[in-house]
Amino acid sequence: MLRKLGYAGAVALVGAEADPPYERPPLSKAYLAGEEPFERMMMRPKEAWAELNIDLLSGRKIVSLDPAANEARCSDGERITYGKLIYAAGDCAAHANRYAGGAVIRLESVQNAHDQAAVAAASIAGAAKPYDAVPWFWSDQYDLKLQTAGLSNGHDKAVLRGDPDSRSFSVIYLKDGRVIALDCVNATHDYAQGRRLVATGGACDHETIADPGYPLFKPTARKG
Ligand SMILES: Cc1cc2nc3c(=O)[nH]c(=O)nc-3n(C[C@H](O)[C@H](O)[C@H](O)COP(=O)(O)OP(=O)(O)OC[C@H]3O[C@@H](n4cnc5c(N)ncnc54)[C@H](O)[C@@H]3O)c2cc1C
Repeated sequence: MLRKLGYAGAVALVGAEADPPYERPPLSKAYLAGEEPFERMMMRPKEAWAELNIDLLSGRKIVSLDPAANEARCSDGERITYGKLIYAAGDCAAHANRYAGGAVIRLESVQNAHDQAAVAAASIAGAAKPYDAVPWFWSDQYDLKLQTAGLSNGHDKAVLRGDPDSRSFSVIYLKDGRVIALDCVNATHDYAQGRRLVATGGACDHETIADPGYPLFKPTARKG
């Protein structure tokens, strides 16, 4: 992301794992089922990091930081000096989220890791932008594609759209007549449209949106 934004400074990526960065979700899905080799989980081939002029410092566990000396210390005693230090050790950062009514939350999902990384990268590259992404999440569980948009905390109505027996349906959460979140099961159309509905905060009639034949979001026609 930093390179995409034109950042030309030195970048080192430190990770405790011996392997280059890889996606976690397949660990409990395709990789676990033996359907996907480890190489397919890698974010990019090892050599691509060098092509981007990024130093991959794998297999190094940082145990302490010395901000005065601009140094990170590794478990084996190695010291890494840095200019700017960004660390995402553990998981997605806690943040005040407007979709949670301004409460500080931590969203543990690939989406949030990517969205927050994009904001951090923009800030380092000198084009700071606020973090304001609609929370969303996906997971594949056997034949079920689970997708969520928004946060359902505080809803005052839950509307079922579709028939759970058909294994394709959504639950739509409203608060004060506005859609604040959706849980979608094998219902990618509902998810895609519902996410826009959550983002725009439009008012909805709960009886209408319960009808799967009714599109959840209709973009406003542009003139000209
Ligand atoms: C098995 C599994 C299945 C998942 N399935 C889904 C899914 O279906 N959908 C979904 O949205 N999310 C899923 N997740 C969650 C998602 O993968 C995480 O939310 C996401 O990886 C968080 O990204 P991150 O970069 O914040 O943290 P991580 O991916 O955990 O990366 C943190 C990095 O920091 C490094 N690190 C930590 N401490 C140190 C240290 N002291 N020194 C050096 N390096 C350190 C680690 O080595 C690691 O490389 C799944 C997670 C797991 C484990």
